[in-house]
Amino acid sequence: MGESLAAPHRSWLTAPMTHDELLEWSRRAAEWALDYHKGLRDRPVRAQVSYGETGAQLPVIAPETPAPMEAIFADFEAIVPDAMTHWQHPRFFAYFAANASPASMLAEQLANAIAAQAMLWQTSPAATEIEQVMIGWLRDALGLDTGFTGTIHDSATTATLCAVLTMRDRALGWRSVEEGLCDGPRLRIYASAQTHSSVDKAVRLAGIGQANLVKIPTRDDHGMDPAALDAAIRADLVAGYKPAGVVICSGGTSIGAFDPVADCVAVAKAHDLYTHVDAAWAGSAMICPEFRKLWDGVDDADSVVFNPHKWLGVQFDCAVQFLRDPAPQIRSLGLRPDYLQTLGQDEIVNFNEWTVPLGRRFRALKIWFVLRAYGLEGLRVRIRNHVRWAEELADAISGMDGFEIVTPPALSLFTFRYRDDAATEDLLAKVNDDGRIYLTQTRHGGDFVIRVQVGQFDCTRDDVMMVAEVLTKISSRNF
Ligand code: PLP
Repeated sequence: MGESLAAPHRSWLTAPMTHDELLEWSRRAAEWALDYHKGLRDRPVRAQVSYGETGAQLPVIAPETPAPMEAIFADFEAIVPDAMTHWQHPRFFAYFAANASPASMLAEQLANAIAAQAMLWQTSPAATEIEQVMIGWLRDALGLDTGFTGTIHDSATTATLCAVLTMRDRALGWRSVEEGLCDGPRLRIYASAQTHSSVDKAVRLAGIGQANLVKIPTRDDHGMDPAALDAAIRADLVAGYKPAGVVICSGGTSIGAFDPVADCVAVAKAHDLYTHVDAAWAGSAMICPEFRKLWDGVDDADSVVFNPHKWLGVQFDCAVQFLRDPAPQIRSLGLRPDYLQTLGQDEIVNFNEWTVPLGRRFRALKIWFVLRAYGLEGLRVRIRNHVRWAEELADAISGMDGFEIVTPPALSLFTFRYRDDAATEDLLAKVNDDGRIYLTQTRHGGDFVIRVQVGQFDCTRDDVMMVAEVLTKISSRNF
């Protein structure tokens, strides 16, 4: 059939880009990547462009004819890097780091080369089986009970959504799976105000509704108050609601709050509620045994999520959900239509049945590469350094004129303010325009505060201490 193509069409099909050319361009891309990473410290961390500037450099319609890769690559170099915020910059202290270690980048290149769609065991046996083994490695590395199994999602948001969907259907005796939510009782989910907004999104998506996410008061240490949790559940039962589950925060995004996991799980279990622990950021730190007291009791939870793509160097996207028993989640989410059957093998694990999308990337490969390339001991050294340097930096900032530590380091995250709200906001804007470091904000106790999170894979003590230097210089220049 190809023979019958008209000549111009044939030339278009053989035009760029072939696999032979891919080899050459991959080398170019790898060289570019090396230069990029070596030069990161000389770049401003946060993109210094305004909204709309980048899009305006591209034509508004797609090209009809092929362009040479040389031109495409040149445009990439001219347009993209300066319009990016550099998440792998060693002085990225904003949000939480999304670390991409070189070993994980290499694994992603290989996964991209194979470009498999790992929805079923049969569609990628190695992807499924390496995922199973990696879940076991990580479970043991975090010190979790060997009774946990689990899966890999794109994000913690998806894992939390899966857990909330499971809470919903379990509370409704699984009728909702067939009948939907019509005529059912009003469900309630419980979490503290320190939990991430992905929990709010999950209750909305699950049809439970924002108003039925009960934000439980916290104690002085910002962890959920188990007595208040118990009281809220009891009050809801009396009022005719149907409590469904509790989301427990282990390392909140705003200030790094930790709920008392054991006590919260005990309250939940006493009411037969499903529990999900969100340790998206802090979970990685649990490879260090000395930090595990922060989530004491986690072994009794039904579901736990953590993001190796945050602090472990396994690049985005990679969120691991541990499950005490996968059956309830599969009962909520698993479908096996005729066209997805693996004939003659009903008992095998097909991970799409554990999550929302059917299609899946081969994410386990990068976990495998990272754990082998750095070893748990190498990863522990990094995390311990980050925690130590965050404490050192907080100490230095607390001694600076006009600065106040608002929340002390929770692992490697702390917050501070400068004089008042307006001065703090002004300082933040000037710091990020300066570009040597990147910090972001939150509100705490009604105040505008600046977050510092030390967690970039390649940062050094000098990078971290530069935060104090930049703050001193900019505040003395402007105030
Ligand atoms: N939970 C916590 C504590 C987080 O900090 C974040 C993101 O920073 C999330 C959940 C959502 O993570 P993801 O981007 O993987 O959905």
